[in-house]
Amino acid sequence: MEPIMHILIPMLIMLVVFPKVNKKLAIGLALLALVPDLDFFIDFTHRFLMHNIFFTTGLSLIIYFFTKDMKIFLMSLYYLTSHLILDLTVGAVALFYPLYQRLIEVTVSLNSKWILDLSIQTHPLMETSSYFSGKPSYFFTKVGVITLAFLVMMIIIKYRKSILKLN
Ligand SMILES: [Zn+2]
Repeated sequence: MEPIMHILIPMLIMLVVFPKVNKKLAIGLALLALVPDLDFFIDFTHRFLMHNIFFTTGLSLIIYFFTKDMKIFLMSLYYLTSHLILDLTVGAVALFYPLYQRLIEVTVSLNSKWILDLSIQTHPLMETSSYFSGKPSYFFTKVGVITLAFLVMMIIIKYRKSILKLN
């Protein structure tokens, strides 16, 4: 999933669900949603080294240790975990690494009787590099660009008053 989507989707949900949230915190901490993809730059660890609940919880606890602020802790945990959930919608993630050393893939689909089919598959970790090399573009997909355009439109609509004031 595109980095921009990893920031925008959870940030917008946060701003819509908690309109009174501290905007500076909500927007600043949203950058944390990018952190799990740093394992992309470490050979053969993408989608597991930092894509698991132990990493997201651990990093949030470290942030809490330095800030002693429960709100910041919960927001950090939310942004980091949102990354795993969003990645799950487009592929496999090793959610419980290193306890469970396999990639987990959840697919939800409608079957012919209009009933939701939920299937959970697992793949060995080594498959990741080949899994992604077979895809044309990992960071920028057509769906991503369309969704991004849609999100930008929603932001403009939501903040049209303050945008107009700037002019
Ligand atoms: Zn990711």
